[in-house]
Amino acid sequence: MRVNVIGFDWRGKVAFQSHAHTDHFASGKIVHATKPTIFLSHLRNSTLYSQVKYGKKFYIEDYKAKLYPSGHMLGSAGIKIWLDEGTLYYTGDVKLEKLRTAERAKIPKADFLIIEATFGVPMYSFPEPRKVEKEIIFYVEEQLDRGEKPVIRANPYGKAQEIIAILNAHGYTPKVDREILKVSMVYSKFGIKLRASSEGEVIVSSSKGILVSGFGKIKLSNHADFWELVKIVEKVKPEKVFTVFGHAQSFAKILNGLGYESMSIKRGEEIGRWI
Ligand SMILES: [Zn+2]
Repeated sequence: MRVNVIGFDWRGKVAFQSHAHTDHFASGKIVHATKPTIFLSHLRNSTLYSQVKYGKKFYIEDYKAKLYPSGHMLGSAGIKIWLDEGTLYYTGDVKLEKLRTAERAKIPKADFLIIEATFGVPMYSFPEPRKVEKEIIFYVEEQLDRGEKPVIRANPYGKAQEIIAILNAHGYTPKVDREILKVSMVYSKFGIKLRASSEGEVIVSSSKGILVSGFGKIKLSNHADFWELVKIVEKVKPEKVFTVFGHAQSFAKILNGLGYESMSIKRGEEIGRWI
């Protein structure tokens, strides 16, 4: 998305990158991001970043701005910008319920909201993360009882680290692949200590095994489900909502029905004319 030369997880004269997943990589003369996002992104790109801290006022182009943790993964952030037309909050990928390896999300109030809608229809209703943890441990113990190796598949950027933290908390030190290890080292650098080894009886893999994802068999997601998304909109109290990613169109329709003026937008779309 773009608003008045600012790119949101997109290219712009100046840009903001909400987190370190490749589909959110931004580009521009200056790309603002948190320090963990910069470290994690540099595992896969060589963008020139400008470091910003959560909660600290800075300027993007000529506009005052502030970052808020978005709860999606280490370093993930949403941004609030004080535009001439009013305040705008862009969530990036967001998770309201607390995960072990991500800072708890903080949601500010704003006049305009751009919200991700990956799981923006009511069929996506996930159990609480702590309940899903039990499912993961149940799967692990069941496999071990049968004499088989539990293999858990997860996105190597964020989700795998969450799984490692869960396994660690239950006394397991999993074996992980190189990509997961590389990312886990960045997590450790920022104080999230994760134990992994080359000999673990449980495997966390980026390519095989039972999938842990909002789309997978075990539904531990680092995205808000439909109900969390609605809660976020209620917290922001916006005059107008722009939905993006995933079920953007359906979610905009649902929000209109709930009394929020809403429209879906595409990645990279300039929305300045609508605010
Ligand atoms: Zn993401």
